[in-house]
Amino acid sequence: MDKTVALTGDRPTGKLHLGHFVGSLKNRINLQYSHDQYIMIADTQALTDYFENSQLVVDNIIEVLSDYLAVGIDPELSTIFIQSQVPALCELTMYYMNLVTVARLERNPTVKAELAQKDFGKSIPAGFLCYPVSQTADITAFKAEIVPVGEDQLPMIEQANEIVRRFNRLYDTKCLKEISAYLGETKRLVGIDGKAKASKSLNNAIFLCDSPDIIKEKVYAMFTDPDHLKVSDPGRVEGNVVFEYLDAFHPDAKEISALKAQYQKGGLGDIAIKSLLNDVLQRFLQPIREKRAGLKRKNLLDLCFEGTKKAKSVAEKTLCEVKSSMGIDLFEKCNFYQRNH
Ligand code: ATP
Ligand code: MG
Repeated sequence: MDKTVALTGDRPTGKLHLGHFVGSLKNRINLQYSHDQYIMIADTQALTDYFENSQLVVDNIIEVLSDYLAVGIDPELSTIFIQSQVPALCELTMYYMNLVTVARLERNPTVKAELAQKDFGKSIPAGFLCYPVSQTADITAFKAEIVPVGEDQLPMIEQANEIVRRFNRLYDTKCLKEISAYLGETKRLVGIDGKAKASKSLNNAIFLCDSPDIIKEKVYAMFTDPDHLKVSDPGRVEGNVVFEYLDAFHPDAKEISALKAQYQKGGLGDIAIKSLLNDVLQRFLQPIREKRAGLKRKNLLDLCFEGTKKAKSVAEKTLCEVKSSMGIDLFEKCNFYQRNH
């Protein structure tokens, strides 16, 4: 029996961080054994807000690839590909664009939150507003049914499913598959500054390749409870960044719950919990950093050449089915199908 398809991706706008790991990469490492997994480097999507700095996007493709390999994503098991090199995705986006209104795109909570962060003013690029449509194209092109993502992506999946249902109903077909999110145990890792989400763009994250000194510096600068002035003061654990990271990365949940109780009662200092978190993160990140440093960066792009070729052929096939459902497969029957069937 064919394996269920999983697809996800990352924007090459910077190196990957701990939020990516707990929200998505950890699940991808497991899914590559049980699913037919596609991992997309979303450079086309990154250009929707980095269009004036395309070189940054290109340079970060290698960084993201290095992070994948460093955490244990295996290009023999997962199909890694580059979005911009699969033109069928743009074509699908163009067709799906007719199935969603501008008002609906403007209401998407993730897009709304991101717009508030960026300073587009009244000059919002149309491409940026429409990126949820292009994500729908990415997912449906591979008939993916599960998407291992962080919580910020839930509105995207909801919007994608609306498009899928509308398309299937309108053209009386089962051509597109509905999608489910596959959330990490930690659905959203907070920023080290206490902001709702650690993110590349906000530069409020601990990166997978940060040096031991930088990790320590970031941990010791973390926001705790501003009213916890003396060690003996009772402290708050809700919204306390150090405890949120301990919850996500400390292997012993019982130990953390005992520490939380002690902190809430009073008698546990911020330095003690930061020192514990620093030890945990140093231990976790050291092998990842070392594996990353040992990679031969020059040959990295070659690793996704075959994956991109495969992705192109699968996406092209779905595009043909989509066009055929709409009745605009005018020449495909004699060209593509004859070549491929
Ligand atoms: P950017 O700021 O450029 O949007 P980002 O840090 O948000 O970058 P993305 O490339 O947009 O990262 O996200 C890739 C994947 O990682 C998505 O599935 C997203 O849900 C997940 N992810 C990113 N940040 C976090 C986080 N802080 N917690 C959990 N999951 C996250
Ligand atoms: Mg993002």
